[in-house]
Amino acid sequence: MRIVVLSGGIGGAKFLVGVRAHARAIGAEVTAVVNVGDDVRMHGLQICPDLDSVMYTLGGAHDRERGWGRVGETWVVKEELAAYGAEPSWFGLGDKDTATHLVRTQMLTAGYPLSQVTAALCTRWQPGVTIVPATDDRLETHVVADVEGERKAIHFQEWWVRYRGDVPTHRFVFVGADAAKPAPGVLEALAEADVVLIAPSNPVVSIAPILAVAPLREALVSGSAPVIGLSPIIGDSPIRGMADKCLATIGVEVTPAAVGGLYGARSAGGVLDGWLVDTSDAGAEVPGVATRAVPLWMSSEQATAQMVADALSLAGVA
Ligand code: GDP
Ligand code: CA
Repeated sequence: MRIVVLSGGIGGAKFLVGVRAHARAIGAEVTAVVNVGDDVRMHGLQICPDLDSVMYTLGGAHDRERGWGRVGETWVVKEELAAYGAEPSWFGLGDKDTATHLVRTQMLTAGYPLSQVTAALCTRWQPGVTIVPATDDRLETHVVADVEGERKAIHFQEWWVRYRGDVPTHRFVFVGADAAKPAPGVLEALAEADVVLIAPSNPVVSIAPILAVAPLREALVSGSAPVIGLSPIIGDSPIRGMADKCLATIGVEVTPAAVGGLYGARSAGGVLDGWLVDTSDAGAEVPGVATRAVPLWMSSEQATAQMVADALSLAGVA
């Protein structure tokens, strides 16, 4: 069996640990198509937060408490940059992480596409799943917000990390999405997939930028593989992160049913065939989408693997 997962960073990475466990148990192959909208160049380094979260987590090298970055991280480079007054100072640039960004930037500068760079970095981490960026092209999420009395478009990282999303926010723009092509391997993986899973990632700033790559979305919508989403919202809580602020900005209620509705039924121009909500949200309905309630807390690898088993069962491929 071939499983494709659309994934953001921390939530997606946690989900992929369970996907990998279940895939090993049933002898399936997994391709993770990862958001690049968070990617940003800082201090001359190309930083890919979601790809790195997925790579480090599956490589067993992530910091569980902080959620992002490397375990055992040190911050000498960040302190030295601050001593020079080098901006931006609000971004957490760890020393170990910096080595990843140096290798990546050097390869990109030499002309390698991000997908090949990612594959090269993964030879060290052996993630056990194929990790591909949604696109090799520039696709950046920008946020139109009122910042220090002025309405402007700022990079998603500045909105998220510097302002904690705590500024009047008007919309998200996926800069470059119109011209972006799926990275090599993405359309192939979708064509060969037996099932596509949408991780319980942030729907607005992790999954939407992936689906903003038009040929990718078309392949998903017109493909034969069933598409099953897992709700990142339990009750009215985003659990971790700021999915609530993101949903409020685009005028969508913070409920599993509303997020399912945002993705929409494949039969009605959306992307979903099935939608998993938490048992506490049993009864939630999304028009045209087969909805089932199962435990959705990713409290352990085993619990997460069971979510995957439930998704495959809903897809009819278990
Ligand atoms: P990011 O790119 O690092 O922000 O991570 P993602 O977008 O991949 O995932 C973040 C989302 O994961 C959060 O907005 C939460 O809604 C969701 N999430 C985190 N933990 C859990 C969990 O245990 N269960 C479910 N269903 N969703 C979760
Ligand atoms: Ca992210």
